[in-house]
Amino acid sequence: MKGFQANEQTNIIEINRKKCKGCDSCKSFCPSAAIQGKYGAIHSINSEQCIFCGQCLINCPFGSIEDTVDAVESVIAKLRNQQLTVVATIAPSVRVAIGEEFGMKPGTLATEQLYGALKQAGFKIFDTNFAADHTIMEEGSELIAKIRHYLLGEPAEHELGALPQFTSCCPGWVRYVELYAPEILPHLSSAKSPMMMAGALAKTYGATDIWHVRPENMVVVGVMPCTSKKFEASRPEFSSAAHYWQQRGGTAHYPDVDVVLTTRDLARLFKKLNIDLNQVEPFTDADNPLAQYSGAGTIFGNTGGVMEAALRTAYFVITGQELPFLEYTPVRGLKGLKEAEVTLKDAKTGKVINLKVAVVHGIKENLKPVIEQVAAGRSPYHFIEVMNCPGGCVNGGGQPINPMGTSWTGNWKALLPWT
Ligand code: SF4
Ligand code: SF4
Ligand code: SF4
Repeated sequence: MKGFQANEQTNIIEINRKKCKGCDSCKSFCPSAAIQGKYGAIHSINSEQCIFCGQCLINCPFGSIEDTVDAVESVIAKLRNQQLTVVATIAPSVRVAIGEEFGMKPGTLATEQLYGALKQAGFKIFDTNFAADHTIMEEGSELIAKIRHYLLGEPAEHELGALPQFTSCCPGWVRYVELYAPEILPHLSSAKSPMMMAGALAKTYGATDIWHVRPENMVVVGVMPCTSKKFEASRPEFSSAAHYWQQRGGTAHYPDVDVVLTTRDLARLFKKLNIDLNQVEPFTDADNPLAQYSGAGTIFGNTGGVMEAALRTAYFVITGQELPFLEYTPVRGLKGLKEAEVTLKDAKTGKVINLKVAVVHGIKENLKPVIEQVAAGRSPYHFIEVMNCPGGCVNGGGQPINPMGTSWTGNWKALLPWT
């Protein structure tokens, strides 16, 4: 299948029948029971039940599972077209993983080499971390409105979703809710993921104020650690920039993000263009406002990062003070569920509330009891972060494949240098 989708893409992860040994181990990584086939028989994936997370792909011991959406050649063709402006929006977890594809130690932080390689290939840069800061503001504002209404008793200015609020930036998780737990949809944050914020911003503000081009002549390429992002970008509802321009007389229709390359795809693209991350001239793009970001945007790639970033915003707005150190405690018996409690004093009324938050990574192992509590109306939490992949996006299905079965064996401090 080619990239540059016209329709929603749902055949993203497939098992190669010629390579499958029927060992059954992929099933143990699948959060959605999408894999069919008995032990010893050739397996297959039911795309109607798949959330496209790629966890089976990075963990199949025989390399039998493939990402079928290959847009590398199409992106190279777009880069060669002088009429087009090709913008790469790069997720936080890509910069700590792509070095592996060029022989660097796992976990090497290679932001400046990555920027340099993108520049050499002909991309403009829109750091997804900048957009993640916007997602945090949106998600944090939504949470603040709910806290003010449901916990502090203030009237609501518009219709609000339910508490607890779940994060919505992981497309694997969003599809999981749609397919397997639709009853909790009103609890999902309405904020777009950083990649989708980046696409909409690139084709509006970026087009007019940064690159001075027509949005229909732009190609936005999401560079992501994630195979599920290929699905997310193809969802027809994500055409906010075209909608914005249509309200101002435009007639063209286009997606906010045209195509997604995983970390593995981008490494292949660089290699096809003879660009070696070890040899490239480092670049910072210091003059580009769309390549600047806070530490909050960076920690999106790590489990707990989205929660902490949004909570910092909510805490500051309600109390007027910075959030002190957030200490998570693992919940007994559930390895991938952590919780924290934060006491907030409303600066306006002096009212004190206890906000209880939880972080879940690895849908398969840890999520069921959390969903059951929410659906039954007895969840102790007010805000819950969910990331499908164990450890978060750093271990996403689009990351370099480690022969030991998981992509992330590296240095967490490289992603979070201040910890
Ligand atoms: S893990 Fe790989 S080889 Fe084993 S059954 Fe699944 S697809 Fe086939
Ligand atoms: S991509 Fe994810 S949901 Fe789909 S079959 Fe593989 S592990 Fe299961
Ligand atoms: S945790 Fe990250 S990499 Fe994994 S499915 Fe969600 S967004 Fe994609």
